[in-house]
Parts: sequence; structure tokens; C-alpha cells
Amino acid sequence: NTNANSDGEADTVSVALRVRPLVRSEIERGCQIAVQRAGDGSPQVTVNRAETFTYNYVFDTADSQQDIYDDCVHPKLKKLLSGYNVTILAYGQTGSGKTYTMGTSFNGIMDENAGVIPRAIHEIFKEIDAMSSSDTTSKSKFVVTCSFVELYQEQLIDLFSPNRSTVDVREVKSRIVMPGLTELQVQSAKEVTDYLMKGSAGRAVGSTAMNESSSRSHAIFTITVVASQTDGRDSVTTSKFNLVDLAGSERASKTLASGDRFKEGVNINKGLLALGNVINSLGSGQASGFIAYRQSKLTRLLQDSLGGNSITLMIACVSPADYNVAETLSTLRYADRAL
Ligand code: ADP
Ligand code: MG
Repeated sequence: NTNANSDGEADTVSVALRVRPLVRSEIERGCQIAVQRAGDGSPQVTVNRAETFTYNYVFDTADSQQDIYDDCVHPKLKKLLSGYNVTILAYGQTGSGKTYTMGTSFNGIMDENAGVIPRAIHEIFKEIDAMSSSDTTSKSKFVVTCSFVELYQEQLIDLFSPNRSTVDVREVKSRIVMPGLTELQVQSAKEVTDYLMKGSAGRAVGSTAMNESSSRSHAIFTITVVASQTDGRDSVTTSKFNLVDLAGSERASKTLASGDRFKEGVNINKGLLALGNVINSLGSGQASGFIAYRQSKLTRLLQDSLGGNSITLMIACVSPADYNVAETLSTLRYADRAL
């Protein structure tokens, strides 16, 4: 793979664009490919051979789940295990490949289709096991917990609670907390992926002309690693790893929505709009100034993991089809603002 900027790991915010292959419904509709990757291997795409966009990484049809993981996720895990908070978000219209890329609906099989979340879980435990059994003087002890929330119409739902309880988000001593949220302590990768599957089976149900149930809520899977060094200094570091499958970015109008559905669209876009603003301020080096985290629950929830001592990767997902060009352009512009 030929991404030019794949060593840009020092960047606080980076953006990867992923152009998925045409899906069957697009082929049946006779869609043509409207999104072209730069021929020289630079991380650029052109839409309808007219408008060009540049990101940190560009992936297209030829790039696998493994390629994306190796290029942009794996380098961030090192940072995570040395104490940084890391957030990976998938953005894009419904059907663009967010859930596939993130692996939010993992089916339990670690094959080439497995997405970011199950791959990261396996690597985290591999690293932790190696570090806790290492033969050096400074041994580390790790405690890993995970939580899974869904954010739907500005309501936070605990997907690990037996009856989808709602939780609140608060700031306590500059840490973001959700009192009452189920935090499951886990010992192995298998245990975490089992919980992931159980949690994602309980996501919101509803339907619009666009698509499936999960398209209108954000899903946030968080792995927290607490590392204690037993080398006499007794230091403890906590790192949070947020894996976010965002709600579909399509405008409310395209879902033929009205009434409650329309209100939903407005609420979803409030989160995505606030996220865009926050990431934009971070990316433009305004991190020391005012950042509007309070504009939505999404940014509030991610406040201590966006900016400061943290690393953010946005994976913008798009369809290559001419049919979707309007939404694709809107995603490309949103992702462009993040850089
Ligand atoms: P979203 O979560 O953005 O609504 P999905 O991840 O559900 O979109 O993807 C929509 C469809 O496209 C699914 O059938 C998925 O398997 C397929 N798909 C998405 N990305 C890819 C890809 N890179 N390669 C092959 N199939 C993909
Ligand atoms: Mg999805």
C-alpha cells in the first residue's frame, strides 16, 4: 500500500478515507465509479475527475481490513499502552462501510473480514500478556475493562445493562464519567469479543427508507487499560480506547423522514456537527483555546479523549458510486475540515 503519510503518527488528529467496492445494489442499478484514487499513490481522491481531496491515508477497493489495521490502527496501540487516550471514529452515510470497517457487528470469526475492534482487542491482549510476563525489573500489571454505549436522540444507553438503562455523562475533576455505567472487567480477547457481540445485538431498532436499525445511533465501544508499574515508583496510568461507529451522516431529508424520524435526524446531526467543530479546532492547533465540547453528548462523552494527551483517527467511509456522489462529497468535505 502506498500511503505517503503513514508515518505521521505524531499528529493528534489524522484522517483516513476508505472507498469501499461497489455493492450489489449499486451494480444492479447500473452505477458507475465516480471516486478515483490518485494514480501516483499519494493519499488523494478525485470525484468525477473534477474535485480533489487530500488526507493522511486513502484506502480503496484493493485495500483489505488488514491493510487499514496495519497502516493506521496498529501504530496507535503502542501509544495507547504507553498512556495515551486513543479514539477511532468511523464517519459516513449509511451503507458506506462504517460498521464493516470498525467491526462493530463482529460475528466471532477472526477471518479477513474482521474489522478494527476485534483486531485491536486481540493485539491489546497479546501486548499486555507479553509485557506482564516480561523478564525485566519493571513489571507491569494491567487491569482491562470495557463498556459499550449507544447514543440515540441525545440519550446514552448502556448496552451492557440488562434492560438498556440510560446513563448520564458528567465531568469530575476533568475526567468524564458516566455514573452507573456497566464496566466489565475482562481477562482475555475472547471475553471482550463475546461481550461486543452481546452488546451489539441489543442496538436500537427502527427503519427508514435508507436502511437498517443501527444507522441512526452512535455506538461507542470503550476499552480502558489501567497499568501499574511495580518498580518501586508505584505509578498508575489509565488509557482509554474509544471505538466509535457513528450514526449515518446523510441529511434527514434523504431518509424520507418526518416527525420523530426528522427530530432524530436533527439530533444525530447535532452530534456530528459538534464533532466536526471539535476535531476542526483540534486539527487547526487551537487546542489551547476554547473547544466546544458541550454542544452535544457525543463530544461531551469523548471530551477527555479528544485533544490534550490523546490521539484521534477519523475513518471517513464513502461509496464509490455516481448515485451517491452528493453524500460522498459531503463526507469528503467534512473529513477535509478535520485536517
Ligand atoms: P454502514 O455501517 O456505514 O451503514 P456497512 O458497514 O453496513 O455500512 O456496509 C454496507 C454494506 O457494504 C455491507 O453489506 C458491507 O458488508 C459492505 N461493505 C462495506 N465496506 C466494504 C468493503 N470494504 N469491502 C467489502 N464489502 C464492504
Ligand atoms: Mg452501520
